[in-house]
Amino acid sequence: MMILSADHVLPVASDPISDGAVLIDGETIAAVGTRAEITHANPEAVHEHFAGAALIPGFVNCHSHLELTALRGLLDDLDHDFPAWLLRLTEIRAEVLSDQDILDSAVAGALEGLKSGVTCFGDIGRWGRAGLEALKTVRLRGVLFQETEFSPDNRTARDDFDALLEKVSALDCGPAGRIAIGISPHSPYTVSADLLGLIADHAIATGTKITIHAAESDAEQVLLESGEGFFAGVFRKYGVDWKPPGTRAVRYLEDTGVLRAKPLLAHCTNTDEEERELIAGSGSRVAHCPKSNAKFGHGIAPLSDLLEKGVKVGLGTDSMVSNNVCDLLEEARFAALAARIRDPESRFIQPAEALRLATLGGAEALGLEGVTGSLEPGKYADIAAVSFREVSRMPVHDVNSALIFASRANDVVMTMVAGEVLYREGSCSHIDEGRLASRMKEIAARVGSAKTELQG
Ligand SMILES: [Zn+2]
Repeated sequence: MMILSADHVLPVASDPISDGAVLIDGETIAAVGTRAEITHANPEAVHEHFAGAALIPGFVNCHSHLELTALRGLLDDLDHDFPAWLLRLTEIRAEVLSDQDILDSAVAGALEGLKSGVTCFGDIGRWGRAGLEALKTVRLRGVLFQETEFSPDNRTARDDFDALLEKVSALDCGPAGRIAIGISPHSPYTVSADLLGLIADHAIATGTKITIHAAESDAEQVLLESGEGFFAGVFRKYGVDWKPPGTRAVRYLEDTGVLRAKPLLAHCTNTDEEERELIAGSGSRVAHCPKSNAKFGHGIAPLSDLLEKGVKVGLGTDSMVSNNVCDLLEEARFAALAARIRDPESRFIQPAEALRLATLGGAEALGLEGVTGSLEPGKYADIAAVSFREVSRMPVHDVNSALIFASRANDVVMTMVAGEVLYREGSCSHIDEGRLASRMKEIAARVGSAKTELQG
């Protein structure tokens, strides 16, 4: 038995506890209460106290692309032109990065998450093995979603589906049960209607989790409704047989059967009232990525309204190419502030609700709320400690406010997954961070010159 205690314990599923403690039995939480209660009842347990800190559930980042971490900052000059950004990203990933580059990139991303208190990722991988190996190497919890290739042509839907399943079946998540395998059809405009239907049927039949980028940009909306814009040109260029459905993104996902699989919908920035009713009514979930949306100028997703409708919403950083940091405290802060800008007169997102989005909300979005996302007996001991010892974090009047409005990733001093401390005070003994740093520099030099050539 082990006891972790701190000035504040935030179970998230219940009110904060001053001078609180968590009792851990092996991999799981056995009890949560005041330090006095827990230590008195368990005098034999090993006890560690985090003075001037809060213990919180580990963050759940429910929408990431760990394999792209080494491209951080590379395409910032294309942020204003999302289709061009996506095309350049796809070219560089396919033509410049080696398998080892992508693997190291994913490990670097997972490590960044661990050091910022993330204990669980919903990660999307075009080369799924990289994200999977990264989660295993860093020992994090998560769902690895194998992404589809560019596959918008109905004529090849069956072959595309078979190729996808072959990749999925090659992914070995190991014996621990810490990682589940899901599928990510990339978006409504890069996956054919028939392939979307095949994936949805498969997901429902096998209980496989799915996630899809949806209603992210105005360009996507124009393409779906009228068949015009950048991607229409790409489809023509490659002779793709793709017809615009003439409807909005979420409605289209309803029509193709995807919503029946209760998918995790990433973004939902551009949705109307009827679509949000469809999301709520179908039991679909939303990965809210406010910083990524803002960086591309895609707008502010209707967080308050989704929550009002009872939709399960988690937070995602999206990739490091579009954020450019994995900092769930910053993401939660941004989510709360952006919602207040968008809807100041409806639900006013409070710090406690923002913290919930970054933890239990993410777990719900991934369907993992039974095992992680809050500090409750029976759940895995996935815990982060956030320090308020810096004078710049003082004083702490309200612990939720101190976390969401005054803290950031660097304030995380300990991260634990299933009762195992994986990160403490800057150090992470099971990962060779120096090697990763060298690899990131080496990859950066190569992708930088490749990008210059592509632009020339
Ligand atoms: Zn994404």
